[in-house]
Amino acid sequence: MNVRITQIDGTLPNLALMRLAAYHRARGDQVHFTRQVRRELFEPEYEAVYGSAIFKFSADRVERFKTEFPGAIVGGTGTDSGLTVEGLIGDGTELDYSLYPDFDASIGFTQRGCRLSCKFCVVPMKEGKPRQAATIAQVWRGGSTPRHLHLLDNDFFGQPDWPGRIAEIRDGRFKVCFSQGINVRAMTPEVAAALASIEYRCTDFRRRRLYTAWDNLKDEDTFFRGVDILEAHGVPGRHLMAYMLVGFDKRETWERIHHRFDRMVARGIRPYPMPFDQSRRDLKRFQRWAVLGLYRDIPFSEYDPNIAATRSAVRRRGDGDLFEGNSPWSRLENIP
Ligand code: SF4
Repeated sequence: MNVRITQIDGTLPNLALMRLAAYHRARGDQVHFTRQVRRELFEPEYEAVYGSAIFKFSADRVERFKTEFPGAIVGGTGTDSGLTVEGLIGDGTELDYSLYPDFDASIGFTQRGCRLSCKFCVVPMKEGKPRQAATIAQVWRGGSTPRHLHLLDNDFFGQPDWPGRIAEIRDGRFKVCFSQGINVRAMTPEVAAALASIEYRCTDFRRRRLYTAWDNLKDEDTFFRGVDILEAHGVPGRHLMAYMLVGFDKRETWERIHHRFDRMVARGIRPYPMPFDQSRRDLKRFQRWAVLGLYRDIPFSEYDPNIAATRSAVRRRGDGDLFEGNSPWSRLENIP
């Protein structure tokens, strides 16, 4: 049987598609993995076609894909489909890493669910309260693969046995990327000390980095209380990248946005604005100015992406400053 597996968006390996591929290969099926939503020139006919989109802003690509492959099974948080990979193939946990030959880390969840319930987020509705999903030993591919773990947990410290997982990370000398972020609002001295004891890394594992979020101005005191606890235990502000949702709060003004931004920069934190509405060009422009690090060179009021001075500042800073390897955009999958 010929099977087409299509990753419609996202830069990180897609776990659902990796499971589908493993399931079909185990049955002797021919698996064709692609990111192309259009049928390519010499593609065969397929007995099964799958597509996954995790971002709402991929709606156009999803529609094009459905037009090209009318019988396709399409799912993911970027679609309105309620389909789950468990519903399709059961509870198998095998992952087919061969879809991503350039990705040498191990990826997965140690827990699902979240203790909080942010208004814009689908995780509490889809996954409920935190529960354990796997140990570190189960996430790591083993063998000669690097001891690099990319954990997709939305609330790592919400699982009851997080000390056990931290001990596994520390004792196994793993480098770990928490790309969905750790919850700084629920920071405690125990959690901060645990984080300080492990090799937390950015998405390409080169830099020390913890991802967190400050989405709403009303959380200012709680956010900085968490930052203070982290610093007191040896995690400096410069190791933090904070996603900041913009364009969601009805009372938001540019003054309030800049207040959040400036307070983080003053503590050495790297803010990462995430426009709720991807069609807001002003917020996209703000995001670009921020993630390129241009705020160190040019005030936002003078920032014009089209002028030569901006272009040369971008060149000086280089693309590496933009995404630190893979983009941490995956958090946007939480935005309905
Ligand atoms: S945004 Fe993060 S902290 Fe808030 S409910 Fe979603 S997963 Fe939990």
